[in-house]
Amino acid sequence: MEKIQNYIGGKLYEPVSGDYLDNYKPSTGKVYSLIPDSDERDVEKAVEAAKAAFPAWSAMSSEKRLGYLMAIANKIEENLEDLAIAESNDNGKPLWLAKAVDIPRASSNFKFYATAIMHDKTDCFDMGGVAVNYTLRKPIGVAGCISPWNLPLYLFTWKIAPALATGNCVVAKPSEVTPMTAYLLSKLCMEVGLPAGVLNIVHGLGHKVGASITEHPEIPVISFTGGTSTGQQIAKVAAPMFKKLSLELGGKNPNIIFADCDFEDALATTKRSSFANQGQICLCGSRIFVERPIYEKFRDAFVEQTKKMVVGHPMDEKAKLGAVVSKDHMEKVLSYVKLAQEEGGTVLAGGKRVILEGEFAEGYYLEPTIIEGLSYDCRTNQEEIFGPVVTIMPFDTEEEVLGYANSSKYGLSATVWTSDLKRAHRVAANLESGIVWVNTWLLRDLRTPFGGVKQSGVGREGGFEALHFFTEPKNICIKL
Ligand code: NDP
Repeated sequence: MEKIQNYIGGKLYEPVSGDYLDNYKPSTGKVYSLIPDSDERDVEKAVEAAKAAFPAWSAMSSEKRLGYLMAIANKIEENLEDLAIAESNDNGKPLWLAKAVDIPRASSNFKFYATAIMHDKTDCFDMGGVAVNYTLRKPIGVAGCISPWNLPLYLFTWKIAPALATGNCVVAKPSEVTPMTAYLLSKLCMEVGLPAGVLNIVHGLGHKVGASITEHPEIPVISFTGGTSTGQQIAKVAAPMFKKLSLELGGKNPNIIFADCDFEDALATTKRSSFANQGQICLCGSRIFVERPIYEKFRDAFVEQTKKMVVGHPMDEKAKLGAVVSKDHMEKVLSYVKLAQEEGGTVLAGGKRVILEGEFAEGYYLEPTIIEGLSYDCRTNQEEIFGPVVTIMPFDTEEEVLGYANSSKYGLSATVWTSDLKRAHRVAANLESGIVWVNTWLLRDLRTPFGGVKQSGVGREGGFEALHFFTEPKNICIKL
């Protein structure tokens, strides 16, 4: 059985403990590889390697760093097929999705930040003949990057690329649930000759490896994507150490559909925004609010089309949904369907586990699920489920739906469907959310600020926001 290894100081290593954890394939429910059960000793080795690499990497010209990052991006493209298969095996997502979205985006992340660094600039403040101030932006040192399982290589590289582009060295931890593509990335880094210690990848459990990165006194900057409660734990440890923190956390995103929308577009996109990646995207719209004049028409069409969505194993090209990521997660999602019913909800579509045939019989498959009849403030509508489960509710006025939408402790993204331009601007401005899509969903421009308000996070990724996060500005004032 394949043993994943840590990537430290440019080489692959067994964990210091010598222990391994089982890695499950969600499509079959079977163990298919082993993950290093690393601990603070492996993190220490990685920090030492990163510190040793930092002087040369941070002093290197941006153009030379661009060369390494572009080489990694190209390697990802050359290996798209293998990486997509690995991602789909590890995560349970349909192979077509990994090929179309996850792996191309991982390559784009490297290209985007490799080239962005060439266009960054710093400020100059002229004090009218008295003095001139200018700002230098310096890399911080060793950056800690911790990422989740839903978009494994996509989100892992979204952090690593800007950290490396700005001249930091990195100690990174992928989710223990989906470590494979990060491991393959370490091999690609070795093939392109990335200098030893510039990127270090330590595999293992959140409370061991993740916590050791968070606590390490020589990691002054941490970029984390994951659940809100994990973000809270990280903030508790990091804040008294005055670490710089970027936290991209959970969501419970509203999808607001006004009666004057383009009905077919709203319907087709709502299917995607509800169930793409088995509903395991932090940006999925899990609370659907439909204006009363079209409520029944929309609900009936949505239910009818959702019932036709094929749930299948990841290699099945007809499958719109694959497996959810783990048995625990499947059980958590099912427990929310039960809760919704206890809270008075009616399951209009789905609600159950799907048992496939043959080797996939023990995989973690769930039906796409629509629930009606719940109040906006019940637990089902307030807690993040992070699976293929959405609720649908009618509304009468703009004011009312803004109240529903903003009632959540989260504020990551929102979607608004309307043909009324003035309303689109007004509602977008009044939603408590870091990102608003109007008449579309998950249309991404990597230059835009990405992140949430309230308990969806602190800080922004994307564009120059990320380049600035991984640098410290220093003002220099020269008296003339
Ligand atoms: P978790 O918070 O459970 O884990 C995220 C990462 O943190 C994993 O690598 C995990 O390791 C690690 N970790 C766990 N405990 C600690 C700790 N005490 N200290 C440091 N690191 C730790 O999230 P999930 O992986 O379950 O991901 C799903 C969540 O991510 C959802 O809430 C989703 O909304 C959110 N998310 C947010 C996005 C955003 O951009 N805002 C984007 C994508 C997802 P391990 O896997 O070993 O437990």
